[in-house]
This record gives sequence, structure tokens and C-alpha cells, in this order.
Amino acid sequence: MGQRSRELTQIFGYMGWVVKELFFEDVRGRRVVPVAGYDIPQDVRVVLRVKRRWTARCTTCGAICGKVHEQREARRWKDLPWAGRPVVIEYAPIRVKCNRCGSHGEELLAWAERYQRSTRRFEQHMTLDAFSMPLLHVATKYGVSWGTVRRAEVAAIARWEATRPEVVLRMVGLDEKYLGRRNKSEDKFVTIVSNLETGEPIWIGFGRRELTVTTWLATLSPEQKAGIVLFAMDMHEPFKNAVRADAALAHAAIVHDPFHVMKRAGEAITEVRREAFFRAGPEMRRLGRGMRWLVLRSWEKCDDDQRATLRRLFSLNGKLGRAYQIVDELRTVLHAPDKAAMTTGLVRILRRTERRDNVPMRKLHDSLDSHFPEIVALGEHHPPTGRVEALNNNWETLVRRARGYRDLNYLLRKLRFMTANPVRREDGVRRFIALGLPVPLNAAKRAA
Ligand SMILES: [Zn+2]
Repeated sequence: MGQRSRELTQIFGYMGWVVKELFFEDVRGRRVVPVAGYDIPQDVRVVLRVKRRWTARCTTCGAICGKVHEQREARRWKDLPWAGRPVVIEYAPIRVKCNRCGSHGEELLAWAERYQRSTRRFEQHMTLDAFSMPLLHVATKYGVSWGTVRRAEVAAIARWEATRPEVVLRMVGLDEKYLGRRNKSEDKFVTIVSNLETGEPIWIGFGRRELTVTTWLATLSPEQKAGIVLFAMDMHEPFKNAVRADAALAHAAIVHDPFHVMKRAGEAITEVRREAFFRAGPEMRRLGRGMRWLVLRSWEKCDDDQRATLRRLFSLNGKLGRAYQIVDELRTVLHAPDKAAMTTGLVRILRRTERRDNVPMRKLHDSLDSHFPEIVALGEHHPPTGRVEALNNNWETLVRRARGYRDLNYLLRKLRFMTANPVRREDGVRRFIALGLPVPLNAAKRAA
């Protein structure tokens, strides 16, 4: 091997494979010979023609196979760009005749999996980009089709998932999500099941009916059901009914997570605000404008200016002031340390909201009253609902970016990948990219 070939082989970076030849090719597949003094056009790609250095291996079992079943035609794989230039690998694989497992499959290639047309490392990079960029941008950046990016994502995330330890499901989050106005499917909602302890989604199904949850429950084994201690869900009856209808889950507690209770309270106060300002003539409407977010904010989080504005609003309308106080108190009650404190606090809230003349607050009252046991259970179990927030944010990002996802399985995988956020730390990025590199042959032998 000459010096140039040795260097190219080192850059290529797959042990046991040698770069035999490097040439340039234009988009129509014609060879381009560089002429001194002229630049090679940007869209000209680099073709690396490679050959195997050692005996072939069986893809199925990893055994060394000396016997050739069939010589295949040369094929190409898209690789990572080199200095901004597209790169393809060209190689003519053989079909082996495996003595160990009897397979007649194609030989093991260091850079790609069977049936893939992109190298693993290229797929890993595209997937990392798709983590924070719309697919269309990634496709444009690498000059590939939208489908190629998507296939790369599926393959790369599957490799990443395979390296993760199996987590026992103890605390379940059930959540309904809106697919967006532009979604064309019959169901406007999906139900997401997540592991509260890790914050990761584990299942997605269309709809938000009792049947949706029952469908997921049917995928669990009796042991898995026995291991579940708690379900946290929004105040949506069908979810509760589905869990309660399952005798194998009779031991599991049901709680309503604070986020959804506060959402109901927020709806009530928004309605009170509307009544107070928007339906009270143009003068009042002017005063109440732009206050929606402020009245949803906790007193604790408001700065001095905001508190002054709120005080002014409340002096104009005492009803809104009282409603704000009650909601703020509810926020504190939901963080009560134990069941007794939670019960006392909630009973107080119920008493303060029972008047029938304040319709929105009375509605909140009825809703809190009918879910009393599940809310009080919060004080007893304290489910780690904070992690689900990351899931919610990622969901918003995903759905905003790609309207009309129809492939829920893809959506689930992508959501899980984003929520687990393997690129949060440098170490995570390194490990993820390492999944695209070939396993050293010695290690592969040990694993087999
Ligand atoms: Zn084999």
C-alpha cells in the first residue's frame, strides 16, 4: 500500500478496509479529472472505492467465512461529507457460505447495516441534526431526500435504544395531547403514556378514550401490571375508568397531577377575568386588555410592577381579586407535604368556591369536589411529575415542526430520544456518535 492509499485508509477509518481508489464524479455520474489551475465544482462528489483486507465475516453470526457463495455487483453507500463535499463508498460485497450458521447472506460490512444505503456514522450525524432542526433543513444540508433523513433517524434511534437498560415501570403518566388544527386524521388527540420516573414516553395511541388506554394496558404482562404503583393523569374520566376496569391494577393509586388541576383553575380565573372586564363595556375592556398571563401567574413569581398592576385590577373588581387569591392558595395546597395537610387545604378551597353566583369558580369547585380522592392522593404519593414537563415541551416542538405526523411509532421514538436528551452533555454526544463507528472485531467476537 502506497503512502497516499495509507493516508486515505486512515481517514476512511474502518479497520480491515482499505481505500483502493479515490476519484471525482459529477452529479450525472461522469468522472471528473481535476485540471491544474481550475477548481472542482462544488457538487462534484468523492467516490471511495474500497476493498476488504481480511477474510469476510457472516452478517448473521459474525463468524469468519472463507467460502464465497456469490460475488455481487458494486454498490454505493452515502457517507459523511468530506470538507463539504459529498462522499460515497463503493464496494462489491460477496454473499458468504457460512459454516457456522448456514447463512448465505451478504458479508458483514463495517460501515453500514444490511439494506441501508447510508453509512451508520452519516445516519448518526443526520439524527443529531434532526434533533434540533426540521427534517427539511437536514435534508437540504446534506443534499439527500427527506425520506433518507427519516430512515436514518429511525435506524440511529433504534441503535441508541438498544444500548439502554430496560427500566421497570412503576409510575405511569397518562396524558392527552392535541395534534393541532391542521391534522387531517380522524382523531384530533393522542394519548401518551409515560414513565414518570424517567419522564420518557413509552406508548402513543390515537384518541383519548377509555379504549385507547385499554389497548395499551393489553400490551402489559401480569408482572408488569403488578409492578405499577401509581397512575398520574389529567381530570379526564375515560382514563380513570380504563384503569379502574382492570382488576389486575386494583392496587394502583390514581392521582391527578398538579399541572392539570392548575390548568382547570387557570380556565376558571380566565373566565372570571373575562366577565369582569370584557363584558363590562369598552372602558373596562381597555383596562383588562393583555392581563391574561398576569392573572395566571403566581403571586410569588410576580415582580413589584406586576404586583402593583394586579392590585389595581383587583381594586376595580373584587371578585377577580378573590378568585386570584383562591387559585394562588390552591397552588400552595397542591404542594402540601402529606395527605392530612392536603385534605385540610382542599376542604378550605372547596368552602371558598361553593357560592353559586360565581359561575366559573363554582365550576372549579364541582370539578375539585368530584376528583377529591385523586387530588388528595397527591399528598400521599408525590409523583415526580416535574419530568413530564420536558416531555410536554418536546411534544410542542415536534408537533409545531411537523404538522400531520401519521406514523405514531416514529413520533414516539423521536419524542423519547428528545426527552432522554442524549446530547445534553458532551459525553452523551460522544457516546451517540460512537454508535456509528464499527465495533472493533475483537469486541464483536467477545460479544458473539
Ligand atoms: Zn453465520
